Amino acid sequence: MGPNEWRRHMALRVGVIGGGQLARMMIAPAVELGIDLRVLAEDEGMSAALAATAVGDYRDLDTVRAFAAEVDVITFDHEHVPQDVLQALVAEGVAVRPGPDALQFAQDKLVMRARLAELGVPQPDWAAVRTADELQEFLDAHAGAAVVKTPRGGYDGKGVRVVRAGAEAQDWFDGLGEGDALLAEELVPFVRELAQQIARRPGGEMIAYPVVETVQRDGVCAEVIAPAPAAAERLIEVAESIGRTIAEGLGVTGMLAVELFETDDERILVNELAMRPHNSGHWSQDGAVTGQFEQHLRAVADLPLGSTAPRAPWSVMVNILGGPAEGSLEDRFAAAMAEHPGAKIHTYGKAPRPGRKVGHVNVADGDLDDAVYVARAAAAHFA
Ligand code: ADP
Repeated sequence: MGPNEWRRHMALRVGVIGGGQLARMMIAPAVELGIDLRVLAEDEGMSAALAATAVGDYRDLDTVRAFAAEVDVITFDHEHVPQDVLQALVAEGVAVRPGPDALQFAQDKLVMRARLAELGVPQPDWAAVRTADELQEFLDAHAGAAVVKTPRGGYDGKGVRVVRAGAEAQDWFDGLGEGDALLAEELVPFVRELAQQIARRPGGEMIAYPVVETVQRDGVCAEVIAPAPAAAERLIEVAESIGRTIAEGLGVTGMLAVELFETDDERILVNELAMRPHNSGHWSQDGAVTGQFEQHLRAVADLPLGSTAPRAPWSVMVNILGGPAEGSLEDRFAAAMAEHPGAKIHTYGKAPRPGRKVGHVNVADGDLDDAVYVARAAAAHFA
């Protein structure tokens, strides 16, 4: 049987919209599960180009429709596919997971805040603000400090600004369209940030990962520790129950990541959501029985979910950001591998630019300090 004939015998074809590293990291588990993974990439030569790849504009209905015709289920590497495109696919009978009704809450932070309020999920105080005066009113009611966010299209801290006067967001107000608003949030005095991962099948079956600690630098995720160190039993339970409430309440299919703030009085508040594998879950590739990329595929393909049990007491993930280091990326990878054979080094096939995520290191170990040391030392080869 040649490869094309074999492909016809495979049960499931999953189409991923978006060709970044998240789609790329679904490829290996897809191969293992016997899933035929196809990617609709924005450009030639993207991270996920190792899979069968079409290149096209995900905002164009005809392009997405033609891609969808070749697969059994559509899922995502990012949340930017417009609602009208997704709604049209669903109306034509395409299985879209997560569906547009769920995805809207990961596409728009104002829509998310309103829905989480309805669900009674703990979150920062917030308001929709349309003018600098409205923002000033919010500031006056919140000790003079707030975080202002553009509701759509932000990532890695872009579209997030701490302000102490309404006029500090004037440029964003000037750019607002008719009827649009910004999101104002109280500046949460958090002691650390956490993330809760949960997978959900179309029929409602769910499985949670242990809550993890995430460390951001300059608005970008730098490190993750799984499970979150010194987390009280109650906190672990509350994080999982928030994850379940959101996955169920929003009708999520696939992986859900809930970013959380932990306050000094041990409350946890929801920051934001992602309905796909997420940087805070990369540790699970090497630290859990079922990694998040495999789990996402299982969930969207409606296969039984895998165990989320840890493979070691501690897992540490350190991101590799493109930097000014001398020498080729290949040489640095080889040096990191030679010095740290226990570290799992993941590369995204992206050209290194300062601050750009080009890979990450996972270390699973019985000792947290050792895991942190090795993961940082391996990642430092790229600094
Ligand atoms: P992005 O969509 O760019 O990831 P987030 O909404 O996650 O943006 O915000 C980025 C970072 O800004 C968070 O990880 C957190 O460190 C900080 N931040 C966001 N919202 C608040 C808030 N209400 N209070 C305090 N810090 C915040």
